[in-house]
Amino acid sequence: MEIYWKEAALGSGFALVIALGIWGVDITPIVVMAGLAVLLQMMFAGRFSSSRKLEAVTLDARDSTGPVVTFDDIGGQETAKRELLEALEFICNREKSQSLGIRPLKGILLVGPPGTGKTLLAKAAASFTDSAFVSASGSSFVEMYAGVGAQRIRKLFNMGRQAAAHQGKDSAIVFIDEIEVIGGKRGRHSSHLEYDQTLNQLLVEMDGINAETEVRVLMVGATNRPDLLDPALIRPGRFDRVVRVDLPDKEGRLHILRIHAKNKPLAASVDLDKIARETFGFSGAHLESLLNEAAINALRNQSNVIREEDLREALEKVMLGEKLDRQPLEEERRRIAYHEIGHALVSESIRKGSVSSLTVIPRGQALGYMRQAPEGDRYLYSKQQLLDQIAIALGGAIMEEMVFGSRSTGSKGDFDQAVDAAHQMIYCGMSGLGVVSKQHVLSEDVNKEVKTIIAEQEQRVRNLLSSHQTIAGILAEELLKEEKLSGDRLRKLCLAS
Ligand code: ADP
Repeated sequence: MEIYWKEAALGSGFALVIALGIWGVDITPIVVMAGLAVLLQMMFAGRFSSSRKLEAVTLDARDSTGPVVTFDDIGGQETAKRELLEALEFICNREKSQSLGIRPLKGILLVGPPGTGKTLLAKAAASFTDSAFVSASGSSFVEMYAGVGAQRIRKLFNMGRQAAAHQGKDSAIVFIDEIEVIGGKRGRHSSHLEYDQTLNQLLVEMDGINAETEVRVLMVGATNRPDLLDPALIRPGRFDRVVRVDLPDKEGRLHILRIHAKNKPLAASVDLDKIARETFGFSGAHLESLLNEAAINALRNQSNVIREEDLREALEKVMLGEKLDRQPLEEERRRIAYHEIGHALVSESIRKGSVSSLTVIPRGQALGYMRQAPEGDRYLYSKQQLLDQIAIALGGAIMEEMVFGSRSTGSKGDFDQAVDAAHQMIYCGMSGLGVVSKQHVLSEDVNKEVKTIIAEQEQRVRNLLSSHQTIAGILAEELLKEEKLSGDRLRKLCLAS
Protein backbone atom coordinates (compact mmCIF):
# COMPACT_ATOMS: atom_id res chain seq x y z
CA MET A 1 0.00 0.00 0.00
CA GLU A 2 2.90 2.29 0.93
CA ILE A 3 4.26 1.92 -2.59
CA TYR A 4 1.01 3.12 -4.13
CA TRP A 5 1.03 6.22 -1.92
CA LYS A 6 4.59 6.97 -2.95
CA GLU A 7 3.77 6.57 -6.62
CA ALA A 8 0.61 8.62 -6.35
CA ALA A 9 2.53 11.41 -4.61
CA LEU A 10 5.28 11.32 -7.24
CA GLY A 11 2.73 11.36 -10.08
CA SER A 12 0.83 14.30 -8.56
CA GLY A 13 4.12 16.15 -8.00
CA PHE A 14 5.09 15.71 -11.64
CA ALA A 15 1.65 16.80 -12.84
CA LEU A 16 1.83 19.91 -10.61
CA VAL A 17 5.30 20.89 -11.87
CA ILE A 18 4.19 20.46 -15.51
CA ALA A 19 1.04 22.48 -14.85
CA LEU A 20 3.09 25.27 -13.19
CA GLY A 21 5.41 25.26 -16.22
CA ILE A 22 2.45 25.62 -18.57
CA TRP A 23 1.06 28.48 -16.49
CA GLY A 24 4.35 30.30 -16.97
CA VAL A 25 5.77 29.86 -13.44
CA ASP A 26 9.62 29.49 -13.29
CA ILE A 27 10.10 25.83 -12.28
CA THR A 28 13.94 25.79 -12.33
CA PRO A 29 14.37 25.89 -8.50
CA ILE A 30 11.85 23.04 -8.13
CA VAL A 31 13.74 20.91 -10.67
CA VAL A 32 17.09 21.61 -8.95
CA MET A 33 15.64 20.73 -5.53
CA ALA A 34 14.13 17.51 -6.90
CA GLY A 35 17.51 16.56 -8.44
CA LEU A 36 19.23 17.11 -5.09
CA ALA A 37 16.60 15.02 -3.31
CA VAL A 38 17.14 12.11 -5.73
CA LEU A 39 20.93 12.36 -5.24
CA LEU A 40 20.57 12.29 -1.45
CA GLN A 41 18.19 9.36 -1.67
CA MET A 42 20.73 7.42 -3.80
CA MET A 43 23.53 8.16 -1.32
CA PHE A 44 21.40 6.93 1.56
CA ALA A 45 20.52 3.80 -0.37
CA GLY A 46 24.26 3.15 -0.83
CA ARG A 47 24.96 3.66 2.85
CA PHE A 48 22.07 1.40 3.68
CA SER A 49 23.36 -1.46 1.55
CA SER A 50 26.80 -1.14 3.18
CA SER A 51 25.38 -1.28 6.66
CA ARG A 52 23.40 -4.36 5.68
CA LYS A 53 26.64 -6.10 4.66
CA LEU A 54 28.24 -5.12 7.94
CA GLU A 55 25.28 -6.61 9.69
CA ALA A 56 25.93 -9.88 7.88
CA VAL A 57 29.34 -10.04 9.51
CA THR A 58 27.86 -9.22 12.92
CA LEU A 59 25.14 -11.79 12.49
CA ASP A 60 27.61 -14.52 11.65
CA ALA A 61 29.55 -13.64 14.75
CA ARG A 62 26.62 -14.81 16.80
CA ASP A 63 27.86 -18.30 16.01
CA SER A 64 29.73 -17.86 19.25
CA THR A 65 26.44 -18.31 21.08
CA GLY A 66 25.10 -21.02 18.73
CA PRO A 67 25.19 -24.76 19.48
CA VAL A 68 28.64 -25.93 20.51
CA VAL A 69 30.27 -28.11 17.88
CA THR A 70 32.92 -30.58 19.00
CA PHE A 71 35.20 -32.87 17.04
CA ASP A 72 32.84 -35.75 17.94
CA ASP A 73 30.13 -34.10 15.83
CA ILE A 74 32.31 -34.37 12.74
CA GLY A 75 32.23 -37.65 10.87
CA GLY A 76 35.27 -38.99 8.99
CA GLN A 77 37.97 -36.40 8.24
CA GLU A 78 40.34 -38.25 10.57
CA THR A 79 43.48 -36.83 8.92
CA ALA A 80 42.13 -33.28 8.93
CA LYS A 81 41.10 -33.61 12.57
CA ARG A 82 44.49 -34.99 13.55
CA GLU A 83 46.40 -32.24 11.73
CA LEU A 84 44.15 -29.58 13.17
CA LEU A 85 44.48 -30.94 16.70
CA GLU A 86 48.27 -30.98 16.36
CA ALA A 87 48.20 -27.36 15.27
CA LEU A 88 45.90 -26.39 18.11
CA GLU A 89 48.22 -27.86 20.72
CA PHE A 90 50.20 -24.62 20.45
CA ILE A 91 47.22 -22.66 21.70
CA CYS A 92 46.34 -25.10 24.45
CA ASN A 93 49.92 -25.32 25.78
CA ARG A 94 50.55 -21.62 25.62
CA GLU A 95 53.19 -21.47 28.38
CA LYS A 96 55.10 -24.47 27.12
CA SER A 97 55.26 -23.16 23.56
CA GLN A 98 56.36 -19.76 24.84
CA SER A 99 59.09 -21.32 26.96
CA LEU A 100 60.38 -23.13 23.90
CA GLY A 101 60.34 -19.89 21.95
CA ILE A 102 57.74 -21.14 19.49
CA ARG A 103 56.13 -18.23 17.73
CA PRO A 104 52.34 -18.43 17.87
CA LEU A 105 50.54 -20.06 15.04
CA LYS A 106 48.75 -17.34 13.13
CA GLY A 107 46.60 -19.05 10.62
CA ILE A 108 45.26 -22.40 9.51
CA LEU A 109 43.92 -22.81 6.01
CA LEU A 110 41.30 -25.50 5.45
CA VAL A 111 41.24 -26.58 1.84
CA GLY A 112 38.55 -28.74 0.30
CA PRO A 113 35.30 -28.98 -1.64
CA PRO A 114 32.14 -27.33 -0.32
CA GLY A 115 30.13 -29.13 2.33
CA THR A 116 32.97 -31.28 3.65
CA GLY A 117 32.88 -29.80 7.16
CA LYS A 118 35.40 -26.94 7.07
CA THR A 119 33.12 -24.61 9.03
CA LEU A 120 32.39 -27.42 11.48
CA LEU A 121 36.12 -28.01 11.97
CA ALA A 122 36.71 -24.31 12.66
CA LYS A 123 33.87 -24.28 15.20
CA ALA A 124 35.15 -27.49 16.81
CA ALA A 125 38.61 -25.90 17.00
CA ALA A 126 37.05 -23.00 18.89
CA SER A 127 35.34 -25.24 21.42
CA PHE A 128 38.44 -27.46 21.78
CA THR A 129 40.66 -24.47 22.57
CA ASP A 130 37.93 -22.72 24.56
CA SER A 131 38.12 -19.72 22.23
CA ALA A 132 35.51 -17.23 21.13
CA PHE A 133 34.39 -17.77 17.54
CA VAL A 134 33.51 -15.18 14.94
CA SER A 135 32.98 -15.88 11.29
CA ALA A 136 32.27 -14.19 7.99
CA SER A 137 32.27 -15.15 4.35
CA GLY A 138 34.82 -13.69 1.94
CA SER A 139 32.02 -12.36 -0.22
CA SER A 140 30.68 -10.17 2.60
CA PHE A 141 33.82 -8.01 2.34
CA VAL A 142 33.36 -7.23 -1.30
CA GLU A 143 32.14 -3.71 -1.92
CA MET A 144 32.40 -1.22 -4.72
CA TYR A 145 33.75 1.46 -2.42
CA ALA A 146 37.47 1.41 -1.72
CA GLY A 147 38.28 0.95 1.94
CA VAL A 148 35.03 -0.68 3.04
CA GLY A 149 36.43 -4.24 2.86
CA ALA A 150 39.53 -3.28 4.84
CA GLN A 151 37.36 -1.62 7.46
CA ARG A 152 35.27 -4.77 7.76
CA ILE A 153 38.35 -6.93 8.23
CA ARG A 154 39.45 -4.65 11.10
CA LYS A 155 35.96 -4.86 12.53
CA LEU A 156 35.87 -8.65 12.34
CA PHE A 157 39.18 -9.05 14.18
CA ASN A 158 38.06 -6.51 16.80
CA MET A 159 34.82 -8.41 17.19
CA GLY A 160 36.83 -11.58 17.83
CA ARG A 161 38.86 -9.89 20.56
CA GLN A 162 35.79 -8.29 22.10
CA ALA A 163 33.82 -11.55 22.02
CA ALA A 164 36.69 -13.31 23.82
CA ALA A 165 36.93 -10.55 26.44
CA HIS A 166 33.17 -10.62 26.87
CA GLN A 167 33.12 -14.39 27.37
CA GLY A 168 36.16 -14.29 29.68
CA LYS A 169 38.31 -16.26 27.23
CA ASP A 170 41.91 -15.61 26.33
CA SER A 171 41.75 -16.64 22.67
CA ALA A 172 39.52 -16.11 19.66
CA ILE A 173 39.15 -17.88 16.34
CA VAL A 174 38.35 -15.67 13.39
CA PHE A 175 36.96 -17.80 10.59
CA ILE A 176 36.67 -16.54 7.01
CA ASP A 177 34.94 -18.86 4.55
CA GLU A 178 35.56 -18.47 0.78
CA ILE A 179 38.79 -16.67 1.59
CA GLU A 180 39.81 -16.74 -2.07
CA VAL A 181 37.32 -13.92 -2.71
CA ILE A 182 39.48 -11.50 -0.71
CA GLY A 183 42.75 -13.41 -0.68
CA GLY A 184 43.08 -13.76 -4.47
CA LYS A 185 46.34 -12.86 -6.17
CA ARG A 186 46.80 -9.09 -6.08
CA GLY A 187 46.50 -7.06 -9.24
CA ARG A 188 44.09 -9.53 -10.86
CA HIS A 189 40.82 -7.76 -10.24
CA SER A 190 39.53 -4.87 -12.29
CA SER A 191 38.52 -3.01 -9.15
CA HIS A 192 41.96 -3.98 -7.84
CA LEU A 193 42.33 -1.16 -5.35
CA GLU A 194 39.47 -2.32 -3.15
CA TYR A 195 40.49 -6.00 -3.29
CA ASP A 196 44.14 -5.20 -2.65
CA GLN A 197 43.30 -2.96 0.29
CA THR A 198 41.12 -5.67 1.82
CA LEU A 199 43.85 -8.30 1.44
CA ASN A 200 46.50 -5.90 2.76
CA GLN A 201 44.38 -5.29 5.84
CA LEU A 202 44.02 -9.05 6.36
CA LEU A 203 47.81 -9.42 6.15
CA VAL A 204 48.25 -6.53 8.60
CA GLU A 205 45.84 -8.15 11.06
CA MET A 206 47.59 -11.52 10.74
CA ASP A 207 50.99 -9.91 11.23
CA GLY A 208 49.64 -8.19 14.33
CA ILE A 209 48.93 -11.54 15.96
CA ASN A 210 51.60 -12.17 18.60
CA ALA A 211 52.10 -14.00 21.85
CA GLU A 212 52.04 -10.89 24.01
CA THR A 213 48.49 -9.73 23.36
CA GLU A 214 45.89 -10.44 25.99
CA VAL A 215 43.56 -12.22 23.58
CA ARG A 216 45.37 -14.53 21.19
CA VAL A 217 43.72 -14.59 17.79
CA LEU A 218 43.91 -17.54 15.43
CA MET A 219 42.81 -16.99 11.88
CA VAL A 220 41.14 -19.95 10.15
CA GLY A 221 40.44 -19.61 6.45
CA ALA A 222 38.51 -21.99 4.22
CA THR A 223 38.75 -22.30 0.46
CA ASN A 224 38.03 -24.60 -2.39
CA ARG A 225 40.57 -22.84 -4.63
CA PRO A 226 43.96 -22.55 -2.92
CA ASP A 227 45.53 -21.98 -6.35
CA LEU A 228 43.88 -18.56 -6.51
CA LEU A 229 45.37 -17.32 -3.24
CA ASP A 230 48.02 -14.62 -3.14
CA PRO A 231 51.41 -16.17 -2.26
CA ALA A 232 51.81 -13.57 0.51
CA LEU A 233 48.89 -15.16 2.29
CA ILE A 234 50.17 -18.75 2.25
CA ARG A 235 53.77 -18.07 3.16
CA PRO A 236 54.87 -19.32 6.62
CA GLY A 237 54.03 -16.82 9.31
CA ARG A 238 50.63 -16.17 7.80
CA PHE A 239 48.75 -19.39 7.12
CA ASP A 240 51.26 -21.66 8.80
CA ARG A 241 49.25 -24.84 8.34
CA VAL A 242 47.30 -26.03 5.35
CA VAL A 243 44.86 -28.81 6.21
CA ARG A 244 43.15 -30.77 3.45
CA VAL A 245 39.49 -31.54 4.04
CA ASP A 246 38.55 -34.03 1.33
CA LEU A 247 35.33 -35.75 0.39
CA PRO A 248 34.78 -38.57 2.90
CA ASP A 249 35.67 -42.17 2.10
CA LYS A 250 33.23 -45.02 2.79
CA GLU A 251 34.04 -45.25 6.50
CA GLY A 252 33.79 -41.47 6.79
CA ARG A 253 30.42 -41.46 5.06
CA LEU A 254 29.12 -44.14 7.40
CA HIS A 255 30.33 -42.14 10.40
CA ILE A 256 28.62 -38.97 9.09
CA LEU A 257 25.40 -40.89 8.37
CA ARG A 258 25.43 -42.28 11.92
CA ILE A 259 25.95 -38.81 13.40
CA HIS A 260 23.03 -37.33 11.46
CA ALA A 261 20.80 -40.38 12.06
CA LYS A 262 21.16 -40.02 15.84
CA ASN A 263 17.99 -37.96 16.21
CA LYS A 264 16.05 -39.84 13.53
CA PRO A 265 14.08 -43.07 14.01
CA LEU A 266 15.36 -45.57 11.43
CA ALA A 267 13.48 -48.79 10.62
CA ALA A 268 15.35 -51.91 11.76
CA SER A 269 15.83 -52.99 8.13
CA VAL A 270 17.76 -49.83 7.17
CA ASP A 271 21.37 -50.63 6.36
CA LEU A 272 23.44 -47.44 6.65
CA ASP A 273 26.54 -49.33 5.57
CA LYS A 274 24.89 -50.03 2.22
CA ILE A 275 23.91 -46.37 1.84
CA ALA A 276 27.50 -45.35 2.63
CA ARG A 277 28.74 -47.73 -0.07
CA GLU A 278 26.39 -46.24 -2.66
CA THR A 279 27.21 -42.60 -1.96
CA PHE A 280 30.75 -42.30 -3.31
CA GLY A 281 31.45 -38.63 -4.06
CA PHE A 282 28.90 -37.32 -1.53
CA SER A 283 30.03 -34.60 0.86
CA GLY A 284 28.96 -34.40 4.51
CA ALA A 285 26.41 -31.78 3.51
CA HIS A 286 24.96 -34.16 0.88
CA LEU A 287 24.68 -36.93 3.47
CA GLU A 288 22.99 -34.65 5.97
CA SER A 289 20.55 -33.58 3.28
CA LEU A 290 19.97 -37.23 2.29
CA LEU A 291 18.84 -38.17 5.81
CA ASN A 292 16.77 -35.03 6.10
CA GLU A 293 15.01 -35.74 2.78
CA ALA A 294 14.43 -39.34 3.88
CA ALA A 295 12.76 -38.08 7.08
CA ILE A 296 10.57 -35.74 5.00
CA ASN A 297 9.60 -38.71 2.79
CA ALA A 298 8.67 -40.71 5.90
CA LEU A 299 6.48 -37.85 7.08
CA ARG A 300 4.85 -37.62 3.65
CA ASN A 301 4.24 -41.37 3.66
CA GLN A 302 2.78 -41.13 7.16
CA SER A 303 5.33 -43.48 8.61
CA ASN A 304 6.72 -43.19 12.15
CA VAL A 305 10.10 -44.49 11.10
CA ILE A 306 12.41 -43.85 8.15
CA ARG A 307 12.34 -46.89 5.89
CA GLU A 308 14.71 -48.18 3.24
CA GLU A 309 12.48 -46.83 0.44
CA ASP A 310 12.39 -43.35 2.00
CA LEU A 311 16.17 -43.36 1.91
CA ARG A 312 16.30 -44.65 -1.68
CA GLU A 313 13.90 -41.96 -2.82
CA ALA A 314 15.97 -39.32 -1.00
CA LEU A 315 19.17 -40.68 -2.53
CA GLU A 316 17.77 -40.20 -6.01
CA LYS A 317 16.55 -36.72 -5.18
CA VAL A 318 19.93 -35.64 -3.81
CA MET A 319 21.75 -37.22 -6.78
CA LEU A 320 19.52 -36.12 -9.62
CA GLY A 321 17.15 -33.45 -8.35
CA GLU A 322 13.43 -33.11 -7.78
CA LYS A 323 10.91 -35.29 -9.68
CA LEU A 324 9.54 -33.38 -12.66
CA ASP A 325 5.86 -32.87 -13.38
CA ARG A 326 6.63 -32.79 -17.08
CA GLN A 327 5.56 -36.16 -18.50
CA PRO A 328 7.13 -37.42 -21.75
CA LEU A 329 4.89 -38.71 -24.54
CA GLU A 330 4.09 -42.44 -24.47
CA GLU A 331 6.34 -43.01 -27.48
CA GLU A 332 9.18 -41.18 -25.71
CA ARG A 333 8.64 -43.21 -22.53
CA ARG A 334 9.08 -46.43 -24.53
CA ARG A 335 12.32 -45.14 -25.95
CA ILE A 336 13.54 -44.06 -22.51
CA ALA A 337 12.64 -47.46 -21.04
CA TYR A 338 14.59 -49.36 -23.71
CA HIS A 339 17.47 -46.90 -23.38
CA GLU A 340 17.80 -47.53 -19.63
CA ILE A 341 17.42 -51.29 -20.12
CA GLY A 342 20.26 -51.06 -22.65
CA HIS A 343 22.56 -49.51 -20.02
CA ALA A 344 21.42 -52.03 -17.41
CA LEU A 345 21.95 -55.13 -19.56
CA VAL A 346 25.47 -54.07 -20.53
CA SER A 347 26.27 -53.19 -16.90
CA GLU A 348 24.97 -56.55 -15.59
CA SER A 349 26.81 -58.57 -18.21
CA ILE A 350 30.06 -56.79 -17.31
CA ARG A 351 29.58 -57.14 -13.56
CA LYS A 352 26.77 -59.23 -12.04
CA GLY A 353 24.86 -57.31 -9.36
CA SER A 354 26.09 -53.92 -10.56
CA VAL A 355 22.66 -52.38 -11.24
CA SER A 356 21.10 -50.74 -8.23
CA SER A 357 17.92 -49.37 -9.79
CA LEU A 358 16.43 -47.99 -12.98
CA THR A 359 13.49 -45.76 -13.65
CA VAL A 360 11.56 -43.83 -16.29
CA ILE A 361 10.44 -41.09 -13.90
CA PRO A 362 11.95 -37.79 -15.07
CA ARG A 363 14.07 -36.14 -12.39
CA GLY A 364 16.33 -33.08 -12.56
CA GLN A 365 17.98 -33.11 -16.00
CA ALA A 366 17.31 -36.81 -16.65
CA LEU A 367 14.25 -38.32 -18.35
CA GLY A 368 15.12 -41.70 -16.91
CA TYR A 369 18.23 -43.27 -15.46
CA MET A 370 20.03 -46.40 -14.40
CA ARG A 371 21.94 -46.22 -11.14
CA GLN A 372 24.85 -48.53 -10.51
CA ALA A 373 25.93 -49.89 -7.14
CA PRO A 374 29.64 -49.14 -6.90
CA GLU A 375 31.98 -51.98 -5.94
CA GLY A 376 33.76 -49.66 -3.52
CA ASP A 377 35.39 -46.22 -3.50
CA ARG A 378 37.57 -46.02 -6.56
CA TYR A 379 40.39 -43.58 -7.19
CA LEU A 380 42.17 -45.40 -10.05
CA TYR A 381 40.89 -47.04 -13.22
CA SER A 382 42.52 -49.65 -15.41
CA LYS A 383 42.18 -49.66 -19.20
CA GLN A 384 39.57 -52.43 -19.07
CA GLN A 385 37.51 -50.53 -16.51
CA LEU A 386 37.49 -47.44 -18.70
CA LEU A 387 36.48 -49.53 -21.72
CA ASP A 388 33.65 -51.05 -19.66
CA GLN A 389 32.49 -47.57 -18.66
CA ILE A 390 32.38 -46.57 -22.32
CA ALA A 391 30.42 -49.72 -23.20
CA ILE A 392 27.85 -49.08 -20.44
CA ALA A 393 27.46 -45.45 -21.53
CA LEU A 394 26.86 -46.56 -25.15
CA GLY A 395 24.36 -49.26 -24.14
CA GLY A 396 21.39 -46.86 -24.15
CA ALA A 397 21.93 -45.46 -27.65
CA ILE A 398 22.70 -48.86 -29.21
CA MET A 399 19.57 -50.37 -27.68
CA GLU A 400 17.47 -47.48 -29.08
CA GLU A 401 19.05 -48.05 -32.48
CA MET A 402 18.28 -51.78 -32.40
CA VAL A 403 14.66 -51.35 -31.31
CA PHE A 404 13.60 -48.09 -32.99
CA GLY A 405 16.06 -47.98 -35.88
CA SER A 406 17.54 -44.64 -34.77
CA ARG A 407 19.26 -42.84 -31.92
CA SER A 408 17.86 -39.81 -30.08
CA THR A 409 19.12 -36.63 -28.41
CA GLY A 410 18.71 -38.40 -25.05
CA SER A 411 22.14 -39.97 -25.51
CA LYS A 412 24.16 -36.76 -25.56
CA GLY A 413 25.20 -36.99 -21.90
CA ASP A 414 26.19 -40.65 -22.38
CA PHE A 415 28.37 -39.79 -25.36
CA ASP A 416 30.06 -37.01 -23.38
CA GLN A 417 30.85 -39.56 -20.68
CA ALA A 418 32.16 -42.06 -23.24
CA VAL A 419 34.38 -39.43 -24.88
CA ASP A 420 35.68 -38.30 -21.47
CA ALA A 421 36.64 -41.88 -20.62
CA ALA A 422 38.33 -42.28 -24.03
CA HIS A 423 40.30 -39.05 -23.41
CA GLN A 424 41.36 -40.38 -20.03
CA MET A 425 42.65 -43.51 -21.73
CA ILE A 426 44.57 -41.47 -24.28
CA TYR A 427 46.16 -39.04 -21.83
CA CYS A 428 47.03 -41.84 -19.42
CA GLY A 429 48.97 -43.67 -22.12
CA MET A 430 46.50 -46.52 -22.50
CA SER A 431 45.57 -45.99 -26.15
CA GLY A 432 47.14 -46.89 -29.49
CA LEU A 433 48.89 -43.50 -29.44
CA GLY A 434 51.09 -44.65 -26.57
CA VAL A 435 52.24 -42.09 -24.01
CA VAL A 436 51.39 -38.62 -25.28
CA SER A 437 51.73 -35.10 -24.00
CA LYS A 438 48.43 -33.25 -23.79
CA GLN A 439 50.05 -30.03 -24.99
CA HIS A 440 51.84 -31.47 -28.00
CA VAL A 441 49.64 -34.24 -29.35
CA LEU A 442 47.67 -33.27 -32.46
CA SER A 443 43.94 -32.91 -31.90
CA GLU A 444 43.26 -34.83 -35.16
CA ASP A 445 45.21 -37.79 -33.80
CA VAL A 446 43.26 -37.64 -30.54
CA ASN A 447 39.92 -37.46 -32.36
CA LYS A 448 40.87 -40.39 -34.58
CA GLU A 449 41.84 -42.45 -31.56
CA VAL A 450 38.61 -41.53 -29.71
CA LYS A 451 36.64 -42.68 -32.78
CA THR A 452 38.53 -45.98 -32.92
CA ILE A 453 38.03 -46.68 -29.21
CA ILE A 454 34.33 -45.83 -29.33
CA ALA A 455 33.68 -47.76 -32.55
CA GLU A 456 35.22 -50.89 -31.00
CA GLN A 457 33.01 -50.55 -27.94
CA GLU A 458 29.93 -49.91 -30.11
CA GLN A 459 30.58 -53.21 -31.84
CA ARG A 460 31.10 -54.98 -28.50
CA VAL A 461 27.79 -53.58 -27.16
CA ARG A 462 25.92 -54.45 -30.37
CA ASN A 463 27.09 -58.08 -30.16
CA LEU A 464 26.17 -58.23 -26.50
CA LEU A 465 22.70 -56.72 -26.81
CA SER A 466 21.69 -58.61 -29.94
CA SER A 467 21.61 -61.81 -27.91
CA HIS A 468 19.42 -60.17 -25.24
CA GLN A 469 16.60 -58.81 -27.43
CA THR A 470 13.80 -60.94 -25.95
CA ILE A 471 14.64 -60.22 -22.34
CA ALA A 472 15.04 -56.52 -23.18
CA GLY A 473 11.41 -56.47 -24.37
CA ILE A 474 10.15 -58.15 -21.19
CA LEU A 475 12.17 -55.81 -18.95
CA ALA A 476 11.06 -52.70 -20.86
CA GLU A 477 7.38 -53.65 -20.52
CA GLU A 478 7.84 -54.23 -16.79
CA LEU A 479 9.69 -50.94 -16.38
CA LEU A 480 6.97 -49.02 -18.26
CA LYS A 481 4.32 -50.61 -16.06
CA GLU A 482 6.13 -50.17 -12.72
CA GLU A 483 8.01 -46.94 -13.63
CA LYS A 484 10.87 -48.20 -11.47
CA LEU A 485 12.80 -51.47 -11.12
CA SER A 486 15.25 -52.39 -8.41
CA GLY A 487 18.44 -54.19 -9.39
CA ASP A 488 17.24 -57.33 -7.57
CA ARG A 489 13.92 -57.36 -9.47
CA LEU A 490 15.76 -56.91 -12.76
CA ARG A 491 18.03 -59.86 -12.01
CA LYS A 492 15.06 -62.01 -10.97
CA LEU A 493 13.24 -61.25 -14.23
CA CYS A 494 16.40 -62.05 -16.20
CA LEU A 495 16.74 -65.41 -14.44
CA ALA A 496 13.06 -66.27 -14.94
CA SER A 497 13.16 -65.83 -18.72
P1 ADP B 1 32.00 -26.39 4.40
O1 ADP B 1 32.37 -25.31 5.38
O2 ADP B 1 33.14 -27.34 4.12
O3 ADP B 1 31.36 -25.91 3.15
P2 ADP B 1 30.16 -27.11 6.47
O4 ADP B 1 31.07 -27.36 7.60
O5 ADP B 1 29.46 -25.79 6.44
O6 ADP B 1 30.91 -27.32 5.10
O7 ADP B 1 29.08 -28.28 6.41
C1 ADP B 1 27.74 -28.07 6.05
C2 ADP B 1 26.86 -29.08 6.75
O8 ADP B 1 27.14 -30.38 6.24
C3 ADP B 1 27.12 -29.16 8.23
O9 ADP B 1 26.30 -28.28 8.94
C4 ADP B 1 26.79 -30.61 8.55
O10 ADP B 1 25.40 -30.78 8.73
C5 ADP B 1 27.16 -31.34 7.29
N1 ADP B 1 28.53 -31.90 7.33
C6 ADP B 1 29.54 -31.61 6.48
N2 ADP B 1 30.63 -32.33 6.76
C7 ADP B 1 30.33 -33.08 7.83
C8 ADP B 1 31.06 -34.04 8.61
N3 ADP B 1 32.31 -34.36 8.31
N4 ADP B 1 30.42 -34.62 9.65
C9 ADP B 1 29.15 -34.31 9.95
N5 ADP B 1 28.40 -33.42 9.25
C10 ADP B 1 28.97 -32.82 8.21
